[in-house]
Amino acid sequence: MNQCDNYSMAVQLYLDNELMGSTEEFFLRHASECAHCREQLELEQRLSALLRRTLPLYVASEELRARVEGTIPLGRVAVPTDIADAVALLASGRLSYMTGAPLIVDGGMTAW
Ligand SMILES: [Zn+2]
Repeated sequence: MNQCDNYSMAVQLYLDNELMGSTEEFFLRHASECAHCREQLELEQRLSALLRRTLPLYVASEELRARVEGTIPLGRVAVPTDIADAVALLASGRLSYMTGAPLIVDGGMTAW
């Protein structure tokens, strides 16, 4: 196990302001000395900033796009027809016995 493996979750917790006390100090000390963790922290900060701006992902760098696609179970970002097909199905009348249930179109992000 790589020493940095212990800090992969800490990057997320740090960005969510959920690291405190000595845990935060250990993480920041490690990140100040570890290029890999600094790079991960910077990448996550850029990704968070991109997502907050809600710009389309196609304006993101290849690196960020690959990072996002790597988190989607289907391995790709949705294209407009993915959403349009779901809307067409809902509007088709073929779901006449479906009531009040959400139709989730997220590439499996919330499937588990
Ligand atoms: Zn590290």
